[in-house]
Amino acid sequence: MVNKKGQVQCINDEILEKLSLKNRYKFLNYNLMSYLPKEQLDFLKKAQRFFIGFERKNNITHNEDFYEWIPEIGKEGLVTRINKFDILDMNYEPHGLTTEFMRTLASDFFDPQLTMGMGANILAINPLLIHHEDNEVRLNALKELVTGQKNGCICITEPERGSDAVHMLTTCDQQEDGSFIVNGEKIYQTNGPKADWAVVYAVSEKNSGNTMAQLLVDTSWEGWNVERINIPWTPRIYLGKETFTNLRIPPDYVLGKPGQGREHLFEGLNIERLGIVLLNTAQAWNAVSHAVIYANMRKQFDREILKYQGVGFPLSDLWAETMNLTLSTLNVCQMVDKKMEQFGTLPKEFSLALVATASQLKSISAKLSQKAAYECANLMGGAGVCDNTLMQDLLGITRIQEIGGGTRQIQQYIMSLTLRQLYKLL
Ligand SMILES: Cc1cc2nc3c(=O)[nH]c(=O)nc-3n(C[C@H](O)[C@H](O)[C@H](O)COP(=O)(O)OP(=O)(O)OC[C@H]3O[C@@H](n4cnc5c(N)ncnc54)[C@H](O)[C@@H]3O)c2cc1C
Repeated sequence: MVNKKGQVQCINDEILEKLSLKNRYKFLNYNLMSYLPKEQLDFLKKAQRFFIGFERKNNITHNEDFYEWIPEIGKEGLVTRINKFDILDMNYEPHGLTTEFMRTLASDFFDPQLTMGMGANILAINPLLIHHEDNEVRLNALKELVTGQKNGCICITEPERGSDAVHMLTTCDQQEDGSFIVNGEKIYQTNGPKADWAVVYAVSEKNSGNTMAQLLVDTSWEGWNVERINIPWTPRIYLGKETFTNLRIPPDYVLGKPGQGREHLFEGLNIERLGIVLLNTAQAWNAVSHAVIYANMRKQFDREILKYQGVGFPLSDLWAETMNLTLSTLNVCQMVDKKMEQFGTLPKEFSLALVATASQLKSISAKLSQKAAYECANLMGGAGVCDNTLMQDLLGITRIQEIGGGTRQIQQYIMSLTLRQLYKLL
């Protein structure tokens, strides 16, 4: 039998129906309802209702080009909730990192690859939010990204400069009229081939991070060239390899001049890493909710497999670890929101402490999401590895989370540096 997605059906109708988006949301909500402030729980449920309706209305099979969905998701205010965006005469309520966590949970249960793609839009949104300087072209780009009319990407990594991102080879040469000419290559940009706006980092002197600039690029300009690279574990996300040939950046689009770019790059890293933590936590919940529903229904030897200790006990452990990660992530989100409310920005000392915390959470959450996806798939047997559910998406996407946003070793490096600094305080 072939199901409505055109796939051979391996899971029986009753279980497949129970694995619906609505039921997986319900499982998540029962876990979180005692810990979330009412405002956040209400927002989570509202976002969930949108995605349930969106899936049903459009008969979504999760094989589609998800970039086509983003304008409608943007209209609903679900591309990002990191800010109120009053600068754009918008009034997102609630907003902040905790709300962003809720948005990520709702969106990831619906479609993990879409959620990661939108995550890269947010990476382009954040620098524009900080460095728009009331400039019309920047505010216009910001609005288009926030409302999902356009897509964005950030271009840091180069073919020869990955972890060592600061020593860039892509150059920007200032012209007499204040514009810059950019030449060089970038690689692995999430959304690169789909991006309308790009935030590009380049240096006026090769290998010198102190000369780094941050530039906004309209990808329809001459000199921007992008090829799609294939990441088989996330086949629906477009990643790009970009070549810049005499790409001219007018002065209005210079977000940070040479010398300012490096600081601009680092100021975004905490929130970028915490954004990845939100994705990882959502992916772990998504996997656990599939396995819990499946193991409660699937019978072997005349009993539900959850009742066998070999299935029920490891699943309980994964559930405990996912809950643990959720509560600590929630705590960090709430602390960030409180500081933002109090000071309008993150105090320097808090931001510094957050560097190690973001690395700790990024490391642990990336490992957990990968383990949860693999172990949950394993506990579901053939049903966990066939293409009838989102488990296949989760298996793929969780395998790349340790690499983007700074690899495992780079997080370990940051943490060990902090241990050295702490020791020196003794
Ligand atoms: C799915 C995905 C999405 C991405 N999205 C973006 C994006 O949107 N924009 C963007 O600019 N980039 C993006 N990247 C690039 C990503 O940030 C880089 O892949 C990452 O920084 C590592 O660089 P690299 O691939 O060149 O690996 P390398 O830096 O060559 O690392 C190879 C190995 O060596 C290790 N290593 C390197 N240096 C050290 C060291 N000092 N000590 C110990 N070990 C070390 C690494 O940990 C890794 O295991 C993305 C990557 C992926 C996979």
